[in-house]
Amino acid sequence: MNKLLILVVEDDTPVRNLITTTLKAHDYRFISAVNGEGAIMDTASHNPDIILLDLGLPDIDGVDVIRRIRSWSNVPIIVISARSETSDKIDALDAGADDYLTKPFSVDELLARLRVTQRRLAIMQSGSSQDSVYENGQLRIDYASGCVYLNGEEIRMTPIEYKLLCLLARNTGKVLTHKFILQNVWGSSFESDVGSLRVFMATLRKKLESGPNSPQYIQTHIGIGYRMLKIE
Ligand code: CA
Repeated sequence: MNKLLILVVEDDTPVRNLITTTLKAHDYRFISAVNGEGAIMDTASHNPDIILLDLGLPDIDGVDVIRRIRSWSNVPIIVISARSETSDKIDALDAGADDYLTKPFSVDELLARLRVTQRRLAIMQSGSSQDSVYENGQLRIDYASGCVYLNGEEIRMTPIEYKLLCLLARNTGKVLTHKFILQNVWGSSFESDVGSLRVFMATLRKKLESGPNSPQYIQTHIGIGYRMLKIE
């Protein structure tokens, strides 16, 4: 079995040990770095499959580490944030991170994030994000004709709903911030537009999800944004 290589970037020894012990117990390979410069060097020399990156590092800010790595690599990055405020997570996601974990986190949460990221990695490696047809569970988007099908039946979408859906689908597995969605769907990123984004997201979900309380496809990240999940 081809084990994934995880780069763990964390200056706090107990947290780093918790992560590496968990990875070892679940058959991941790992390397670790204790600062931002080390993280950048290890990414370049070891080409990890996934990076777990603490945002509060002793030398460079974690968001700058993401920007520097993103200048040459698309490796999935899960940030680890000590603060519960959303602003640093939003900055990290806008800089190119894929997902986030908030300290303190449980071993189960860590493993769940890794599984979601592995599915994203599989999509990236198969190149299917470039396909002309998108398939996820019972959802099917034919990009060429602009038609959306659920359980084999065509669903009518407004142009904005369709743009929103395509953006989420093209970034399956990645948490997209409100700002990123607003810029890509409406071409603006005013804070006041988040309200209209919520309205369109609600109508889109009504068409896609079987129950309002059990979203299967689109996950909400309160105060941050949304993510299309890959259905297994
Ligand atoms: Ca730290």
